[in-house]
Amino acid sequence: MNERDAERLAGGLLNDGWRLAKNPAEADLILVNACSVREKAVNHALGRLRQLFSLTRKRPHLLFGLTGCLAQHLGTEARGMVPRLNLLTGPGAIKRLPVLIKTLHGPDDFAVDLDPAVDLTPDFDPESDYRSAHPAIGPHAAFVTIMEGCDNRCAYCVVPYLRGPEVSRTPEVILAEVEYLTQKGFSEIILLGQNVNSYRSSVYRFPRLLREVSLIPGVRRVRFTTSHPKDLSRELLEVMATGSTICEQLHLPLQSGSDRVLRAMGRGYTAEHYRKLVTQARGLVPGLTLTTDLITGFPGETEEDFRLTLDLVKQIGFDSAFMFKYSPRPGTRAAELPDDVPPETKQQRLVKIIGAVTESAFRRNRELVGEALELVVEGTDRRGEPYGRTRGGKRVKLPGELLRPGRVCVAEITGAGPRSLTGRLVEA
Ligand code: SF4
Repeated sequence: MNERDAERLAGGLLNDGWRLAKNPAEADLILVNACSVREKAVNHALGRLRQLFSLTRKRPHLLFGLTGCLAQHLGTEARGMVPRLNLLTGPGAIKRLPVLIKTLHGPDDFAVDLDPAVDLTPDFDPESDYRSAHPAIGPHAAFVTIMEGCDNRCAYCVVPYLRGPEVSRTPEVILAEVEYLTQKGFSEIILLGQNVNSYRSSVYRFPRLLREVSLIPGVRRVRFTTSHPKDLSRELLEVMATGSTICEQLHLPLQSGSDRVLRAMGRGYTAEHYRKLVTQARGLVPGLTLTTDLITGFPGETEEDFRLTLDLVKQIGFDSAFMFKYSPRPGTRAAELPDDVPPETKQQRLVKIIGAVTESAFRRNRELVGEALELVVEGTDRRGEPYGRTRGGKRVKLPGELLRPGRVCVAEITGAGPRSLTGRLVEA
């Protein structure tokens, strides 16, 4: 979501006459668009701003802005945390940014917009499109936001306080944006929402929206993220199973395998419900790539709670996971609880859970060796060798091949590691 916000920020500025600097030392304006979901990311973003400030020695006119949900979270206190801030804007202010910048006339000026009201009007602008500048998804893929905010109140999560309540964009706007993107040559669409399963317009729910996006001429692949397990429906899985352009990939955050911890987190499902969902999903969508999020050391997590998580993680066998040690986020319900799992215990549990996920990811990748899979080439690595992505979202290195980004091909999988596959071209 933050990556898409950064694209939208840059797109708005490009359209207003700004140009992208090749590196920060050549810039007149530096925006750090930062996430506040984890403490580590917050420290990293503030550290980066302080480090960039040294550039003012040679460029005293340089303007600095902090944008995104971190700006929303810190509010005007952010001014005391970095040497100089000229702009402070939250995720709701993306489209208002170009106008706000015009109010800045020198390095001592400061402008702020933390109004959470989001602008849901179409996000495309034929004059200056920044979308394809994102290297992680390839030049053929584009993010499309379908909703903003979140109505859940997971105890550890700061997102609903910063991005506000759920607001869905209308299907007309979303479908028009996808049509526009396909006309511009984007063949892969990644639908974004904090919880896509609670997307709703007056007549549409997410399964229908997903099906209609998948049927737009020019769409070759559709992915989406994120799905909350309490809201994932059989209908959605059936749409995934029957839509030929919908990728066999599901990100389904588990967080914990202990019902006691899940209850304390306010997640709204049990470990057994999650296990049954996975069985149903794998039954309906053969070859599904399943990824998740896991937190170790949530307040009150006992050895037994952790053992339940580890057992469930091993039983399910994920393809990969985002795994974190719990850190309290100010303003959340969990921040009121004693952070009582010692840091070294959180770390030990994290290491064990990473070990379990790495093992299952490696095993599941090895099962693909010998198969011929459709890939879209996303880019080249440091050695100049191409890599592509399967429909399931797995990265495949293609050593020795000559293929430009965006190219569709079929490769035989010849090798597997825990994080990626290796292949050779069988059909261009
Ligand atoms: S569903 Fe929970 S974890 Fe996800 S954004 Fe909403 S509150 Fe945060």
